[in-house]
Amino acid sequence: MTMASIAWIGLGHMGAPMAARLVAAGHEVHGVDPVPEARAAAAARGIRVAGSIAEAVDGADAVFTSLPRSEHVREVYGGEGGVWATAPTSALLLDTSTVDVTTSAFCHEASAARGFGFVDSPVSGGIAGAEAGTLTFMLGGGADEVARAQALVEPMAGHVFDLGGPTLGIAAKLANNLMLFVSLLGVSEGAALAGSLGLDPKKFFEVASVSSGESWPLRTWYPAPGVVATSPADRNFDATFATTLAQKDLAFAVDAGTAAELPMPAARIALEQFDRLIDEGYGGKDCSLIAKFATADGGVPGFDATSG
Ligand code: NAD
Repeated sequence: MTMASIAWIGLGHMGAPMAARLVAAGHEVHGVDPVPEARAAAAARGIRVAGSIAEAVDGADAVFTSLPRSEHVREVYGGEGGVWATAPTSALLLDTSTVDVTTSAFCHEASAARGFGFVDSPVSGGIAGAEAGTLTFMLGGGADEVARAQALVEPMAGHVFDLGGPTLGIAAKLANNLMLFVSLLGVSEGAALAGSLGLDPKKFFEVASVSSGESWPLRTWYPAPGVVATSPADRNFDATFATTLAQKDLAFAVDAGTAAELPMPAARIALEQFDRLIDEGYGGKDCSLIAKFATADGGVPGFDATSG
């Protein structure tokens, strides 16, 4: 697409590399973040750092948000000096944050009431996907807005899906992550059983990865060191997907399920285990550390509770 002027609000782990892909695609990107280190790192990536939302959105063709939690999204859109108060209504608004369904619906309704087009645009693929420009985008909104969004997100995306209507992007994101975390519970328990029955982890992994136990967390996060190169078990469970983020995503999925009167027994168990990890002080560790709740002694190979 032709060069656009884009505002980017929230230059964190995801936002900075995503915005940098837009710069690389030839767009002019004006970024905002309250954290000085985030601003400096974004400037080094070619993002023009603005002092306020009003300054960043001035004349923007599109406004992206990448914010930690639902409350930040509501504040950035609806607060004094926020997006709705300061952006031109011709700007398309895209929220790439993972929020709850109610917040997403609120953003759609309040945007429409003020004459803005809004697209819920959550992503999957993590920081590595953001850097590489290979994220999966799940878009929810009106057909015209989603068509505009598709062209805008293309430099950041490996896959782009039009899910068909407001909040359906976030619905896909939450349902996908619920599957991931329930699968992770299965991987944890299967790995613990295999280990306690005397199987060599690497040999068992080879079997499961070509058998019906295969899954994304098995392939990516097998909870034993020396089995898969990407596993947090090789790095004392330093976060690839922090437990606090996993807990947020799964809590939103369970809330949405509760509202839809779904029982969701397995998701609730996974959520309890993330809550326990956070209570034990491991919110910053990788969520695959829930493997410790599947072992007889609460230990996991590759995890040293006394170091970092
Ligand atoms: P992050 O905490 O690294 O980044 C969020 C940034 O928003 C921070 O730099 C923070 O200073 C900034 N911010 C907070 N309030 C602000 C405000 N009022 N105005 C401007 N900036 C503000 O988080 P992240 O890992 O980049 O994740 C961002 C969103 O993407 C979250 O909703 C997360 O759930 C989602 N997400 C993250 C991942 C991942 O792997 N990290 C993957 C998919 C989706």
